[in-house]
Amino acid sequence: MELSRRHFLTVSAALGLASQLKAAEETKPKTLVLMAGTISHGPGDHEFNAGVRLLAKCLEATKSLKVEVLLSGYPKDDSVLDVADGILCFADGGAGHPLIRDARLERIGKLMKKGTGLMCAHFGVEVPKDIGAKEFRDWIGGCYEHEFSCNPMWSPEFKTFPEHAISNGVKPFSVKDEWYFNMRFREYTKGITPILTAVPSDKVREGPYVYPKGPYNHIQAAKGQTETMMWALDRTDGGRGVGFTGGHFHKNWKDDNFRKVVLNALLWICKMDVPKDGVASTVTDDDMAANLDPKKK
Ligand SMILES: [Zn+2]
Repeated sequence: MELSRRHFLTVSAALGLASQLKAAEETKPKTLVLMAGTISHGPGDHEFNAGVRLLAKCLEATKSLKVEVLLSGYPKDDSVLDVADGILCFADGGAGHPLIRDARLERIGKLMKKGTGLMCAHFGVEVPKDIGAKEFRDWIGGCYEHEFSCNPMWSPEFKTFPEHAISNGVKPFSVKDEWYFNMRFREYTKGITPILTAVPSDKVREGPYVYPKGPYNHIQAAKGQTETMMWALDRTDGGRGVGFTGGHFHKNWKDDNFRKVVLNALLWICKMDVPKDGVASTVTDDDMAANLDPKKK
């Protein structure tokens, strides 16, 4: 009798502790790491450093969120990634992609397995077909594939949005950007939700694309088809992934809806609640002009 009573007390104490731990886990501040790539392109284009600092500023008022900014490429000491709930990689991709170089696929893969969120933006959604593409499909659902995907400059009309936390408060918008489309998604598309979709005109499909100029027959043949420029993935390991193909022009961060959909996604990959009306933020002209990369000599 005494033993079973003690047992009961022990079990209830343990349950109490478990619920306390769960509550503590839920209120524990989340850590978001914003990783900017190295300097590239001309002024106003691929402004990764200025972009992530602007996003960090916009998230300053978000409660229970700690934002760590990594500037100018993959850091020498990457230990902050171990405590990250979510990571944004806004950087040049392809063979020099910061998440695939120097055996980092394994490092990042381990983080993904424990449920760390990942969002890749603009060139950061592109990796070589034979290095990292499989991993990217696992981590964020799809990636840009050279000569399969294309990269025209155009102004998609984003008119409707799915029922999804990332859509919260986002109103129809259109901005000109190098919106890549026709990503190489995983064949098993369960868990992928297209967030920003639009139908490119036949003229957009004809090119020229930024590089290579194209046009590609398979892109032209798909005329009339809806394309996905941003998507969200619920991974089977419990983690969350997002791909966002815009972000070429720094000036686009001035657009409230463009900014909001990205800020919402950054909370979402950290498994945070996205406010009903989305993340509120304002940016001034001074904010827009701040932290731009120095001009190349
Ligand atoms: Zn670009």
